[in-house]
Amino acid sequence: MQKVYLDNAATTRMHDEVLAAMQPYLTNVYGNPSSIHSFGREARKAVEEAREKTAAALGGEPREIIFTSGATEANNVAIRGVARALQQKGRHIITTAVEHHAVLDACKALEAEGFKVTVLPVDAYGMVSPRDVADAITDETILVSVMLANNEVGTVMPVAEIGKICRERGVVFHTDAVQAIGVLPVNVDDLQVDLLSLSAHKFHGPKGVGALYVRKGTKLKVFSFGGAQERKLRPGTENVAGIVGLGKAIELAVTDMEAKVSRIKAMRDKLMTGLLSIPHTRLNGHPEKRLPGYVNISFQYVEGESMILSLDLKGIAVSSGSACTSGSLDPSHVLMAMGLDHQTAHGSLRLTLSAYNTEEEIDYVLSVMPEIVARLRAMSPVYPGKD
Ligand SMILES: *Cc1c(COP(=O)(O)O)cnc(C)c1O
Repeated sequence: MQKVYLDNAATTRMHDEVLAAMQPYLTNVYGNPSSIHSFGREARKAVEEAREKTAAALGGEPREIIFTSGATEANNVAIRGVARALQQKGRHIITTAVEHHAVLDACKALEAEGFKVTVLPVDAYGMVSPRDVADAITDETILVSVMLANNEVGTVMPVAEIGKICRERGVVFHTDAVQAIGVLPVNVDDLQVDLLSLSAHKFHGPKGVGALYVRKGTKLKVFSFGGAQERKLRPGTENVAGIVGLGKAIELAVTDMEAKVSRIKAMRDKLMTGLLSIPHTRLNGHPEKRLPGYVNISFQYVEGESMILSLDLKGIAVSSGSACTSGSLDPSHVLMAMGLDHQTAHGSLRLTLSAYNTEEEIDYVLSVMPEIVARLRAMSPVYPGKD
């Protein structure tokens, strides 16, 4: 059976060159980067080279990069780290209703500790208004966290505008840029961000490794202890092979980005147009300000989960929202924040492409989808299409 992977927002296939770059550090080059002998020095050199590549890709400096176990940890270090460091100055944090749970739950935990959190609404496209951010800032505000691009609908947020506002008001600004790496230009100065999170496995790198960009002078208080690694912000022996993989993956991700993106967009448009030609469907997310590989569509009178299972039987992997919420019966917090009703939210599918997809795969998906939707609708008690 043909296998088609259209869940690249959840994770991606690792690039062969990334694996090749990592290989020596999983075998022959096994020194601890903290050791001063030649074994250690060789590992240290590899970690520092990866740091340089990561910084170069983001337009920052190597010493502004902290390697972590992924974006969940990077988001936690950023948000909790700033909150701890600046709590004497104020205890107010601003974020949006459509952030990844790593951001929302970190904020919730701070709320339980007495911080005040403003969760800004989004419009029908999942977009936050910079004006709302400006209006929400008070003398107590110490941190604003707004994602660069949403991981369920692909809407690209006005982060540069928000960054400008935060800078003018003297508020630290963090962005979760996980979904944007390799598909949008991501430059920490253009975006005017102080902190930026990313995760290697979302751009064809290995799982379990990520990075946090920390602009020089940004105060963070550590909450994990036991070593001096990563400027004490992330103590513990470095994931050397993973870090090398991240460095290689981000280097590849930003190489020939435009050519890759236009190929992905062409496939995305074909998939989107084909799916929207099925009756009772609607596109979720912003029609233009969106990531190139994203198609999030609501199919009325069908359960997203049933579609996922039916597609899986045909070898096609898609998702109903973020991987973190699948398995629970709650509709996506992102679609709910965009004002979708429960039923429409439950009937939504997220199909996300990467450079590894082919036009033949898109044709295959479009050839099986109408039949699956029609079959599921025929079984639905609420579908008005039958007599
Ligand atoms: C995947 C993802 C994360 C979590 O990254 P991990 O490295 O898997 O912890 C955070 N934010 C966004 C927007 C994501 O898509």
